[in-house]
Formats: sequence, structure tokens, C-alpha cells
Amino acid sequence: MGKPWWVLAATAVFAANALAQLSDTEQRIVAAVKQRSPAALQLLEKSVRINSGTLNPEGVRAVGEMYRAELDTLGFTTRWIDMPPAMKRAGHLVGVHAGNAGKRLLLLGHLDTVFEKGSGVPLWEERGDRVRGQGVSDMKGGDVIMIEALRALKVVGALDGARIEIMFTGDEERTGSPLETARAEMIAMGKRADYALSFEGSNRHDGVDTASIARRSSGGWVLRVKGKPAHSMGVFSAQSGYGAVYETARILNAFREQVIEPSLTFNPGLVFGGTNVSYADDTATASAFGKSNVIARDAQVLGDLRYLSPEQGERARQKMQAIVSSNNLPGTSATITFRENYPPMPPTEAGRQLVEIYSKASQDAGLGRIDILDPALRGAGDVQFVAPHTVGIDGLGAAGRGAHTDDEDLEVASIERGAIRAALLIYRLTRP
Ligand SMILES: [Zn+2]
Repeated sequence: MGKPWWVLAATAVFAANALAQLSDTEQRIVAAVKQRSPAALQLLEKSVRINSGTLNPEGVRAVGEMYRAELDTLGFTTRWIDMPPAMKRAGHLVGVHAGNAGKRLLLLGHLDTVFEKGSGVPLWEERGDRVRGQGVSDMKGGDVIMIEALRALKVVGALDGARIEIMFTGDEERTGSPLETARAEMIAMGKRADYALSFEGSNRHDGVDTASIARRSSGGWVLRVKGKPAHSMGVFSAQSGYGAVYETARILNAFREQVIEPSLTFNPGLVFGGTNVSYADDTATASAFGKSNVIARDAQVLGDLRYLSPEQGERARQKMQAIVSSNNLPGTSATITFRENYPPMPPTEAGRQLVEIYSKASQDAGLGRIDILDPALRGAGDVQFVAPHTVGIDGLGAAGRGAHTDDEDLEVASIERGAIRAALLIYRLTRP
């Protein structure tokens, strides 16, 4: 099998532009970014030291206020958008830079992290040329890259006239419900934009940074399984049956054996079963009561589902549904429900061309080419909501490892690298 088309395209650009130069203004932009590098790291540390798990609205707002102050000094008009109280989310920060020149840009970041208040992961832990911490690369590193890129443009007078809107969402990791309300403003902004640049982490492969032009959907499923509660000595008998837990195991194993295909993933993230079970959505906590000598009556599984196109999603749902509703073990029954949170963002030619501009800016600055990332290698993100309305790319953020895990970290040098690239890209797109 040859290399996928997105790899070939980026390589061709590299060869054609290896010797290009930066203009005087662009050189001053690069210098302005570099001069700020120690201060940029301090800004990152300050914002990372505030826990902003999605379910901690005070923390999310505090990070938002910090970034808002930065945007205010850069000449943006900022406002906070509150969400309905029932949504239990912090809301979003919006910034607008009015102008009349060049392409209209939408820049995307998020304030929340997957690390909720009780997380045992240290907020900020320096490790040589890397930093470990809550949301360092997903995505406060990217947020700071965006702010520092804009600051460098401001310093050299290159922000004048640029038409830029910014949204920092407060609920990217656990989107508020209903989605139509949570993302209404972002979609409206997407409709006004020629390009959307999203600053989620840049996956780095073999020393080459990447950008995304396609992202898989994100959504989920809930599997509910019923068995007959009876003394465990009768398990496997026709009268007592196998119970909810064995049936859950059968279904999950069949998913793994029968539904896997390229670009499609589904992950059972939480399984609980027993005599009585319950789940609290606001704390993402399940509880189960049961005894080892009683056949389980109830079991549930919360899982996710990610696909690259609507057709692939439909195919997966049909296969999973068939497994759940046929061949049930004796004495059991099961149902499954699905929901789609982030729509899939399939690759487009316009997106590929935007990455070419980005890659050229990076090479002109001596920072190497940018490859297009295989969409199977990243999760879902906010850019997908605006993708149907504008040309979006993602991955302009920091380089790190282990996003969403206890070991999430960040390559410190990727802040400066990302800010230089983003500043040059924004500069070139917003020229008259
Ligand atoms: Zn993220």
C-alpha cells in the first residue's frame, strides 16, 4: 500500500518552497514571538495552575478571565457568553477584532480540561524541556500559542485591519446539553469566517509536526442489560439464566470481534453491574449494589463511537444494534441507544490547500514542513461544528504526549514554534 494522498501533497510543498524567505515584517513577527517565550511559559503556568475540569465552572471561568485580559490588551472586544443554568457549564469566551482587510478568520480554543477537581494529577510539574500537568497540551498550550501569535502581530502593527473572531469554549471535553444551544454562537461565527484555525495539540510524528483537515465524529452509546435476580447456584440453568453481567461480556466481545474497521473506534469506558445500579451524569460516577452469590439483574456500559463519515457511522450502529438484540444468553435481554455529539469532518481539497499555506509559512521560518495527520490518530474537537460552514484545520497547538491521561505533557519548545507558525499564517491570511 502506498502513502495516503495527504502525505504526498505535503511532501511536494516541502520541495517547492525550501528556500523561501520571510519579509522584513515577518522577521519582526518571529523576533517578537521569541522575545516573549519566557513570559509565554509563565502565562501557560498561571493558567494551568487553575483546575478547569469541565464540571468545575468557577475554574473554567477563572482561566477565561485570564485569557480575556490578554485579548483586551491586544485590542479585541471581549464578552462572556453564559449558558443556561440547567446546562451546568461555565459558558464561553468570545473576542472580536474588527477590520476590513484580508480573509475573515475564526480562531478556536477551549478553557476546560478532562481533569476534574478531585484529580490526583499534579497541576504543573516541570521535567527538563517538558512539562507535565493538567491540560498542558490539551489545550492550554494551544490557547497560549494563539494569544502569543496575536500579541506578536500586535507588537509589529500587523494586527491592524485584521478581521478575527475568537472563541474559547468552556465545555469542549464534555459538551453541554443541548448541543444546539452550547454551539449556536460558534456555528454562527463559523458561517462568518473564511477559515477556522483550531489550536488543539499538534501531533508530532518522526520529528514532523502535523495538522488535521479531517476529524472523526464523537458520540456515544449506552448499553442496558437485564437478567433475572436469583441465587448464584442456579446460574447457567434454564430457569435462572446467565445474568446481566455475562450477557454484557458477550455483547462487548462480539463488538470487538465483528464491528472493528479502519477509521472506526468504539470504547467501553465504564461498565457496572449487580442487583441495582445507578449513574450520576454530573459527577460521571456509577454505583452498583450486588453480592457475589446473586445473579446480576442490571448492567450498563457507557461507551463512545467515532467515525469519519456519516455512512461509516450508520454501518457501525446497525452492526452493534444487531448484536445487542439477537442471540441473547438465556434469561437476559439488552437495549442500546446512540447519540452523536460531534459530527464527522471528512477531508476536503480546500482544507489541504490551507495546510499548504501553513506548511509553507513554517518552512519559510525554518521550522520544517507540516504533514497532514491521519484522522484515525486524533479524537474529536470543536472545529467539527464549523467545518460544514467554513474551511477548517486543527492541530495548530502545542506538541505533547498522553493527552487525557495522568501523564499528559508538553514539549516546552513547541510553544514558541507554534506561535511563530500561527502568527505567520494569520499574517499571510489577513493581508489585503
Ligand atoms: Zn482538547
